[in-house]
Amino acid sequence: MLFISRIILGVIPLAYCVLFAGQAFGEEAPLLFPGSRNPMKKWEVETITDDVYGFRFTFYRNIFIVTDDGVIVVDPLNPEAATIMREEIRKITDKPVKYVVYSHSHWDHVSGGQVFKDEGAQFVAHEACAANFVENPNSDVVMPDITYKDEYKISLGGKSLEMFYFGPSHDNCMVPLLIQPANMLFMVDTANPPHGWVMFYNPAVSEDRVWHMVKFLTRTDELIQARGIETVIGAHMTMGIDPNTGKRGIVPGLMGPSSVVAERAEFWQSVIDAVRGELAAGTLAVDVPEILVEKKVLADKIDGYQPDQMRILFRRITSYALTGE
Ligand SMILES: [Zn+2]
Repeated sequence: MLFISRIILGVIPLAYCVLFAGQAFGEEAPLLFPGSRNPMKKWEVETITDDVYGFRFTFYRNIFIVTDDGVIVVDPLNPEAATIMREEIRKITDKPVKYVVYSHSHWDHVSGGQVFKDEGAQFVAHEACAANFVENPNSDVVMPDITYKDEYKISLGGKSLEMFYFGPSHDNCMVPLLIQPANMLFMVDTANPPHGWVMFYNPAVSEDRVWHMVKFLTRTDELIQARGIETVIGAHMTMGIDPNTGKRGIVPGLMGPSSVVAERAEFWQSVIDAVRGELAAGTLAVDVPEILVEKKVLADKIDGYQPDQMRILFRRITSYALTGE
C-alpha cells in the first residue's frame, strides 16, 4: 500500500494526503482529520509495559522491546520515523538496537532501517519477504540477514520475540509477533483493536490473499488460545468513539482484547458468505455488489459501514468467489 495499509479509517488516508501535502508539521502540531474530533501529534512513544513500547508515527505504529542486552525493533516504517525512533530509544536506554524484525514486506512498514543497520543490527524476516525484496526492490528497505520458514524466536536479555508463519494473508509473508514475557501479540494490517468489525480503509484489498485470510486468522487465534494471549497491539489507529471525549474520531488506544482476531475472521467469513449466497441465488456476478449494498447486508455489524466502500469490497470478494484468488 502506498500510504497506509489495512483495516482502518475509511477515506481518511487519501484526504490526509490532500490536506497535508507539502505541509511541514512538527511533533507538537495537532493532526486533525476529516470526521475526527481528536487532535493527534505526528508521532509519540507509547509505554505498553516497563520494557515494551509502541512508536506511533501518523497512523502507523511499531513496537520496540528494551532489554539489558539491547533492543529489538519491529518495523522501521520509513526513514523519518526510524530516525526519530532511534533518538527516542536513546532517551530510554543506551543499549544498541540488536535486531530489526519485519512484520511483512510492505514498504510502508519496513522502509528506513538503515539507521539501525549502521549500528550493527541484524534484520530478521520471513523467507518470502526476502524474496519479495529481491523481486521488487526498494532502496529504503534493508535486506534481511536472517530468514526463516515457519517460526523464529529472538531471545535477548531474558526477553523474547517470536514470529509465526501461518500462510498467506495480507501479503505472502506476514507474521503475528508474540512478545514475552508480556505475552502480547503484535498484529500488523490483519486485525486491529479494539474490535474486528471495522471497515477497511481500502476495500479493494488488492494485495490481500482473500482465499487464505480466514485460515490465517484462525491459526492465529489457535495460537492465542494455546498461549493464553489476552492482548493484541495494533499497528494502526482505528476510527471509533473516543472513550475520553465521547466523540467519533481516531481512537488513540493501542491495545485491545485478543478477541479482535476471531472477530476479524468472522468479518471476512461473513462478507464471503454474503457474496456466495447471492451468487448461489442466481444473481449475476456483476450485480452482486449493488444488490448486497441495496439490501444493507452487514450494515448493522460493520463499524464505519459506507455503501461506496462496501460496493468495492463486495466486488473484490465476488472476484475471489469466481476465481479463487
Ligand atoms: Zn501492509
